[in-house]
Amino acid sequence: MVKARKYVVKNYFKGAPKRNDYQLVEYELPALQDKEILIKVEWISVDPYQRVYNSLKDVPYDQFGFQVGTVQESRDSNFPIGTQVVSHKGWSDYTIVKDVAAMGALREVYKLPDMKGLSPSLGVGAVGMPGATAYFGFLEICKPERGETVVVTGAAGAVGSIVGQIARIKGCKVIGFAGSDYKVQWLEKELGFDKAFNYKTVNVTIALKEAAPNGVDCYFDNVGGEISSIIINQMNKFGRVAVCGSTSSLNEDAARLPKATILQPSMVSNQLKIQGFLIWEWFSRWPEAFSQLIQWIKSGELKAREHVTDGFDNIFDAFNGMLAGENTGKAIVKV
Ligand code: NAP
Repeated sequence: MVKARKYVVKNYFKGAPKRNDYQLVEYELPALQDKEILIKVEWISVDPYQRVYNSLKDVPYDQFGFQVGTVQESRDSNFPIGTQVVSHKGWSDYTIVKDVAAMGALREVYKLPDMKGLSPSLGVGAVGMPGATAYFGFLEICKPERGETVVVTGAAGAVGSIVGQIARIKGCKVIGFAGSDYKVQWLEKELGFDKAFNYKTVNVTIALKEAAPNGVDCYFDNVGGEISSIIINQMNKFGRVAVCGSTSSLNEDAARLPKATILQPSMVSNQLKIQGFLIWEWFSRWPEAFSQLIQWIKSGELKAREHVTDGFDNIFDAFNGMLAGENTGKAIVKV
């Protein structure tokens, strides 16, 4: 018998999630049935969508999310003992998965790609869902051209830091907005952003006018709210906006959502294309993104920084810390 632990969400979050919105449950896993595998979890991801989807679930529910682990026992010949896997089984230290082959197109378990010697932890980051989000969201929606000006918000986070680097690789001028001077330094000095700003301390309108005097061609929007209105109002004719997320209002109650400046005049006069997306749309193509991202990381063209919290007991702190902006790069937990 294996003793497992998992986090169960008991409540609908009010504002920032609270520790007592979660219950840490310890339980015994049953013996494996035919076509089942037992995964020992090594890396766990904390992500903004774990906050976003709380209001859409029925409580209580097991906290979902990506994890990387190794098959410890197997009754599925496609997943022998020792296979490294990525699953969406959330905040648990051991997990049983049943009949992966029967899961259909959107599988919640897949084999970790050949990481070519890179850390398996990247399987929940730059070579996982966030990396695929940056790759497809930016390349397929913004369709950047060499020499164009690209703006990224949430620029020092898991998705944003990859988007900015892909833009640089594609020969674009890259401007990032992030929430601390330390992050700004990192973006400019280490990741090669042409310019970065601390959105908490600059006048965004003036800073962007100076950094992009010829206007903005592509905007990768991680945060929404007023900063996005300001950026969209400085876009060029036929500019493209990939709307990825809305971290600026993540912890706001629906009744108290911040107001943002109206966008329609700018959208119409500049004939902008603004598209929201969900990364699941490209799920069948994720391996294509992974092999390119691995190649860029191996060649040193792309840096995949991780913000690691140690210990299964500290996942909640890692989650809340990420929501508060403590992470530079991908926030993950080492079990
Ligand atoms: P992340 O950027 O690594 O972490 C969240 C960040 O949000 C924090 O580090 C913080 O950075 C920022 N933040 C917190 N409060 C903020 C505020 N009031 N205003 C502006 N920024 C704030 O997270 P991620 O995993 O890369 O996700 C980034 C975005 O992509 C999220 O909106 C997420 O929901 C979205 N996403 C969408 C998809 C999709 O399929 N559409 C897939 C994955 C992720 P600062 O210090 O810079 O404030």
